[in-house]
Amino acid sequence: MNEKVYSNDELKELLTTVIEDCTRGLPGQILWYTKYNQPHSIIDQTLSEVMHAAINQTLCGGTGGGGWDHVDNGENKNSSYVQAKFCGKCDKKVTFFTRICPHCDSKNFKARKAQKDFITTNPRDARWGIGAKTHFEHYEELKEYRLSLIEPTKDEPDCRKFRIRSWKINKDSEHLNLYAKAQLESPKSNHINFQPLSADFYLSGPILIFDGILEILEDSTKFTLSFFDINNDVPEEIPGEYKDISSEEHINKKGFGKERGEWVRN
Ligand SMILES: [Zn+2]
Repeated sequence: MNEKVYSNDELKELLTTVIEDCTRGLPGQILWYTKYNQPHSIIDQTLSEVMHAAINQTLCGGTGGGGWDHVDNGENKNSSYVQAKFCGKCDKKVTFFTRICPHCDSKNFKARKAQKDFITTNPRDARWGIGAKTHFEHYEELKEYRLSLIEPTKDEPDCRKFRIRSWKINKDSEHLNLYAKAQLESPKSNHINFQPLSADFYLSGPILIFDGILEILEDSTKFTLSFFDINNDVPEEIPGEYKDISSEEHINKKGFGKERGEWVRN
């Protein structure tokens, strides 16, 4: 695997080929998955691991103590906002691509509040799950987090363009470590429900690696990158609404502190 070191431009081309080759079945999958009401995330965890392995010039299936997703001890997380929605009449769960409810023939779907007061029939609440215990137990070996996010460009069943972005978060991210520590010491689960594009996300110093649009054509797909830099080391600018948030205050507001105190006394 290490016989050739690819340049940034070569990796960009490689990523495009990997994504287009592995998503070629999407036109048929969308047709049949929708007919039989099976949700489709467009890019799943498996493909996310493959595309990150390719651009990091490593392999899937890490063997370290933490059992990281990649052989170079990178940990891979995928999250897709191509999510199931709910029928407005029979309340049953149907897929993103459903136009007519297969259960009751209704064309109305429940509107709900998504992120940032955005009202849509499609929820956008998928998360990256990060294990706080594994994070600290195998911290020395861990290289970095590799996070991908898939978003529909419009919340309509005929949407065929999806934005795919990938960031890395360094393991020494101060905010992520505060968050993981609070989660680990709380009586709650050791599982961080890390929300894409949230205050926690931006405070953790995510570094954009690529940004592109996957278009689903009649019998193939086309992936167009607007940004690709495997060597980027500049974190995303924190949006105005999160700019003045103090990391510690934000973690304390989650209510871990008080419960932690009670838990320690027991
Ligand atoms: Zn229905």
